Order: sequence, then structure tokens, then C-alpha cells
Amino acid sequence: MPIATVNPATGETLVTYEAMDGEEIERRLSAAEAAFRTYRTTGFAERARLLGRAAGLLDEDRDDIARTMTVEMGKPVTQARAEAAKCAKAMRWYADRAEELLADEEPAEADVKDSGASRAVVRYRPLGPVLAVMPWNFPLWQVIRFAAPALMAGNVGLLKHASNVPQTALYLEGLFRRAGYPEGCFQTLLIGSGEVEEILRDPRVRAATLTGSEPAGRAVASVAGDEVKRTVLELGGSDPFIVLPSADVEQAARVAVTARVQNNGQSCIAAKRFIVHTDVFDAFAEHFSTAMAALKVGDPLAEDTEVGPLASERGREDLEALVDEAVESGATVLCGGERPEGLTDDGWYYAPTVLADVTPEMRIHQEETFGPVATLYRAADLEEALAIANDTPFGLSSNVWTRDEAEVDRLVRDLDAGGVFVNGMTASHPALPFGGVKRSGYGRELSGHGIREFCNITTVWHG
Ligand code: NAP
Repeated sequence: MPIATVNPATGETLVTYEAMDGEEIERRLSAAEAAFRTYRTTGFAERARLLGRAAGLLDEDRDDIARTMTVEMGKPVTQARAEAAKCAKAMRWYADRAEELLADEEPAEADVKDSGASRAVVRYRPLGPVLAVMPWNFPLWQVIRFAAPALMAGNVGLLKHASNVPQTALYLEGLFRRAGYPEGCFQTLLIGSGEVEEILRDPRVRAATLTGSEPAGRAVASVAGDEVKRTVLELGGSDPFIVLPSADVEQAARVAVTARVQNNGQSCIAAKRFIVHTDVFDAFAEHFSTAMAALKVGDPLAEDTEVGPLASERGREDLEALVDEAVESGATVLCGGERPEGLTDDGWYYAPTVLADVTPEMRIHQEETFGPVATLYRAADLEEALAIANDTPFGLSSNVWTRDEAEVDRLVRDLDAGGVFVNGMTASHPALPFGGVKRSGYGRELSGHGIREFCNITTVWHG
């Protein structure tokens, strides 16, 4: 894939970049290693000062970088601005909390004595240069979610961003440089995915984090496994959204629309499968498909656009194929199911779609729909809702709508996912751990769990 900005609203190639050559990559790996040697010795106050400055610059740049993201990957510009604001907030959160999150831990006095020590502590030390392989869908957030805690822990970062968001990738390197980080602390590698293996095998790279698809995760994790390097994987999702009879059905349907079409439907934590109790199925289906059909689809730079184009031509083709195959096998289209009328076909638009009568044999039942397409399932009771919800290779997050506490307890106990959001949609927050189980990956980002992923958890024992 060329490293280029191709506007998804027009199909026009705006800028193409040469991939960095071996010499440039070597220069950057050496710079990362050299930077780590000194940056690791800085205190939390200095790290917080730098990250706070980067957050301030990002706030100042918000409108410009939002526009860049929209032109590179097609998200509505209002959502791009919100993404930039969220990044600055997460940077400040880690700047303020890292010292406390990584404070030395002292085991219980009796246990210390029992180990034969006069004193013992657990200290969180940085690991070294970490390679971050990142996707285009939240081109700022996915990177900041890694970089803010990693830098606060004393690590340095090497970013291999998705090939279709090179301007955002270069902006990020410039942001940290302008904030005053020493050279080599945060660098962007303009490379294709074929270069990742060699870099990951380099002894100077100590760990890797990948957010992206399952095949990419498997490729990076196999190399890292071979090199015995730590990884965090944030992969795909097909989150269930369960609605039970005691729920506020209209409210659930309203939130369901946002949960499905945020970021033009290209979010790992978007609700993708809507599993509705038979008693409220018809009411939910009516409210949901009416609201999905009413969404304003169009130019992502327009302030009132709710759904823009998909990020790539290939992405739209894949989504179309999933829908078409399902419809041929008997799924019912409640709305959408085709390219929207009245928009240029040079842009990669797809109409917000709701499909009912989906069966387990259909590919759409098992695969991730990365676009504004919802599948609707009717469940006879809680047991069947749970069975459908867990019948997926993924386990990222889940959404449940009920006012019955016993049902909530049961769902939290039995949903095979990294999150359960009750009467609301899944969203990430710096204070809450984020990550999945099954094919959605392993490890956690955000919160104290996230910042400790790339630490050397060191036992210090005094005789
Ligand atoms: P992708 O094709 O897997 O790309 C993600 C990153 O991995 C890109 O930088 C890509 O580089 C690189 N890559 C691809 N194949 C690779 C390989 N064999 N070895 C090394 N690197 C490789 O995914 P995407 O299409 O950008 O993103 C969509 C996917 O990401 C969806 O499945 C979505 O659910 C998932 N996602 C998960 C989370 C989460 O937190 N769990 C968040 C966002 C997205 P190139 O661009 O150069 O190919």
C-alpha cells in the first residue's frame, strides 16, 4: 500500500510519501536508544511538564489537525475535533496521575519478613523503545492512548502508523518535538507493514503494541513471540448490544444509532450486533431503523454531517460484500443496504443499514462489520440473548440495557468481553482499562493497568 493521503470523500490522491530507507530507519532506531538512556532518568515532574506542553499545543492545533484527519480518513470533522480534545485530556490525565500510578509498592510487613528481607519494594521501571503499530480509524487517539502513558513511564516511542494517515503521523512526531521532548523520544517511521518484522526483531526495540486487525495482530505477535518481546494487542470487535424488556427502549434505540455509526461505523468498540428481547423487538427495530435512515450522510468537512465516507475503497467493497451475501441468503433489509443516492460515487459512501433475520451461517454473523451496518437479532429470553452475544470470535466490549439488577449481575458474570456497559454505549476514558479477550486481543490500555504494561516490574529486596 503506498504511503499517501487519499481523500475518501473524493478518491483523490493528495500527497504521496517515499518510505524511509534502511539508513534512515537505522538512524531513528539509534536515536531512540540514545534518547532512552537519558530520558529514563528524568523525574515525573519533568515528564509531566513536557506532556502538559504537548497537550497545550494540541489544543491550539485542534481545528487544523481535525481537518487533516478528516481529509485523510473521512470522519466527520466535528468528531475529529472531539478526538483531538479527548487526546489532550488523556495527556493531562497521565501527566497528573503517572507518579501515583507507578509509585513503589510495599508488600505487607509480615510477608516482607517472611521473605527474609529487612525491606522490600516493587518498583515500576521503563522498558525502553516501544514500537507502536497503529490503525487509521482514530489516527490521533490510538497513538496518544499508547504514547501518553508510555512517555510518562519513561519509555520512548517509535510509531508505525497506517499508510493512509501519513500527515497525522508526521504531525504527531512534530507535536512532541515542539513540546520540547529530547530528540528520539517520539519518532514516526514512514514505512510499509513489510518493514515491521525487521524493526521488531532489532534488539533495541524492547516491546510492541498493535491496534488493528486480527491478521496484523497475529503477524506482529508471532514475531514478538519468537523474539520473546512483550506485546499488547487491541484488535477487532463485534460488540453485542442487548436490549431486555425492562429497558427504556426509545432511549436504547437512540444510543444504538450513535453506538453503531460513530466514526462512520469504523470503530472497534462500536456496537455491531443488536440482540433484542422478543417482547420489545418490534418497537426497538422501528425506532432504530427509522433513526438510522434519517442520518445525514455526506461531506465529512460539513459541520452537520453525521456519517461520512468509509476510509478506503477496499473497506467499502468488503462491507458491501458482507451485506450482499447476507441478503442473498435471506437477511431482511430494514433500511439502507446500498450506496446512498445523490452522492458522488468517487467518495466511498455507504448508507446506514439495518439487517434483520441474520443467521449463524452468514459470514456477517461471524465477521466484523467495519462501517455503518447493524445486524438485528431476536432473542426469546436472557439465555438466548447471552448465547447469541457470545457466539463470536471477538470479545472486546458489550452493551446491556435493562433496569433489572439481577439481569445485570448475570450479564456481567457471563458476557465474554473486556467491558460491559450498562444502559449506555461503550466509550473509552483514561481512568478505565480498555482491551479485550478472545480474538480481540490481550493486555490493557489506559488507567493504571495500561501504564504498567510496558514497565519492568522490579523486585527490590534488602537483606
Ligand atoms: P490493519 O490493516 O490491521 O492495520 C493496522 C496497522 O497494522 C497499520 O499500521 C498497518 O500498516 C499495520 N499492519 C497491517 N498488516 C500488518 C502486518 N502483517 N505486519 C505488521 N503490521 C501490519 O487495520 P486497519 O484496517 O487499519 O484498522 C481496522 C481494524 O482495527 C479493525 O479490525 C478494528 O476493529 C481494529 N481496531 C481495534 C481497536 C482496539 O482498540 N481494539 C481500535 C481501533 C481499531 P499499513 O497501513 O501500512 O498496512
